[in-house]
Amino acid sequence: MADKFNILHDLSPLLSPQASIVLPGDIAFSNLTSRWREYRAPNISVVVQVATEVDVQQTVQYAAKHNIPFVARAGGHGATEALGTASHAIQIDLRALNEVILSTDGTTATIGGGANVKHVVNTLELLGKRTVTGTCDCVGMSAPILGGGHGWLQGQYGLMADQVVSARLVLPNGELITVSEKSEPDLFWAIRGAGHNFGIVTEWEYRVYDAKPKLSYEIFIYSGDKLEALYSLANNMLKDQPPELMHWGYIIKVAELDPEHPILWFIIIYDGPTEAAREHTKPFHGIESITVQSGEAALSELSALTFQDEDGPGCAYGLTSLRYPIGLNSYNIAAVRKVYNEIDSTFRAVPEVAGSFFLLEGYSTQGVRAVDPATTAFPHRDDRIVVTSYIQYKPNPAIDPVAQAFGKKLRQYLLDGSDDPAHLRAYVNYANGDESLQEVYGWEGWRLERLRKLKKRWDPKNAMRYYVPIE
Ligand SMILES: Cc1cc2nc3c(=O)[nH]c(=O)nc-3n(C[C@H](O)[C@H](O)[C@H](O)COP(=O)(O)OP(=O)(O)OC[C@H]3O[C@@H](n4cnc5c(N)ncnc54)[C@H](O)[C@@H]3O)c2cc1C
Repeated sequence: MADKFNILHDLSPLLSPQASIVLPGDIAFSNLTSRWREYRAPNISVVVQVATEVDVQQTVQYAAKHNIPFVARAGGHGATEALGTASHAIQIDLRALNEVILSTDGTTATIGGGANVKHVVNTLELLGKRTVTGTCDCVGMSAPILGGGHGWLQGQYGLMADQVVSARLVLPNGELITVSEKSEPDLFWAIRGAGHNFGIVTEWEYRVYDAKPKLSYEIFIYSGDKLEALYSLANNMLKDQPPELMHWGYIIKVAELDPEHPILWFIIIYDGPTEAAREHTKPFHGIESITVQSGEAALSELSALTFQDEDGPGCAYGLTSLRYPIGLNSYNIAAVRKVYNEIDSTFRAVPEVAGSFFLLEGYSTQGVRAVDPATTAFPHRDDRIVVTSYIQYKPNPAIDPVAQAFGKKLRQYLLDGSDDPAHLRAYVNYANGDESLQEVYGWEGWRLERLRKLKKRWDPKNAMRYYVPIE
């Protein structure tokens, strides 16, 4: 347990003048520890707001010496079972480590381990650059990278993890090392897919690309009876979806649009001019819609269009939010229909969860598939679609079992209807945490074997065990 008097006395003198230690009685404490999901959140005794790399080292060393659990904190959107097992932990708050500095040749940027998506996208945009990031403004950059990292531009450039040239990593014993293809390549392999298990990244050297003109988009809203038509077209699109094209779907209740049933919200985004986008969106106009909205947007504006900006539900803190992810190659229409019907009936039976939504992410995958799957710990490169429920409600233990059963059922429908029902593929950054390690880190035996070996070498005391732990 973190003894607050000792930590103040012992650690403060070792930290930089800009760092601070915040305790539960302090006015800032609850704000600093509030999270996107409060359910099964880590139990924090003290927050160390680090300002330098050395601050991270000193804090980790202090934690190691006193055997105190610690969790890194950037965007605060981490939501998986193991986080809730961190008890009386130190929150190593990385948010001040948020620099985004372009290299002189303009091909990479140095990105701080605590930066969030909005800061990176906006800063690069001002510099005439872009890169692969997650979709939600408030989510950290580091955690998605550590688990692979899906995002709008992955069809063109690969996953977020594929953008990493090197990382500065504070190991669980407090030592600082740089990992890259040349320096500790085994560990470099591991932190790109299973990275929550190995250390705290203070800084990334990350690939960036020249900015392009605005993207084009069309948002279609359909009533639930159009599901078969919509997802048949989505399947057709997946067959030859160009790298610049992506689609996203929500199944969600919007009473103003349909007071009875959930609607189907579907965006197609094309990283190119409207005329070219039209070629892909045209068939979707053939399905009778409730509304269609078309336009152009900067990369930084996609978050607002998809409800992932600071005012949207993606950034709302404090709810119970349950995710049960599955990676797929195409939409099994009958299974998606079952999902829809289950959502429809559950929203009526359990109105507390009627604010939930179901997300179907159909990014392009050429850039992801172009990378040899053996070269990173990310195991699901062949998946074309990432799907998950976001079962959200005001914290209420009476609802928890119903909500969990609901989420699991939705995923099971899709798994049963998938091309490989015996092998669930669950993206680590969305994982509920009750999945098997194979489901998360890969079914090929060598992957877990290699991860376990590396874990023994780099984190023998298993200090990094609060995010889908390998051990
Ligand atoms: C609304 C929403 C949108 C999302 N969108 C995307 C998306 O577009 N693409 C995608 O791939 N994922 C996405 N995710 C999933 C996301 O990757 C995970 O939820 C991730 O854990 C959130 O990271 P965070 O920094 O916001 O959260 P935190 O709670 O701050 O961090 C989560 C965990 O990551 C680890 N961690 C964080 N920073 C570091 C660091 N510097 N070094 C070492 N470990 C660290 C720690 O284990 C920490 O507990 C989304 C999640 C939500 C809730």
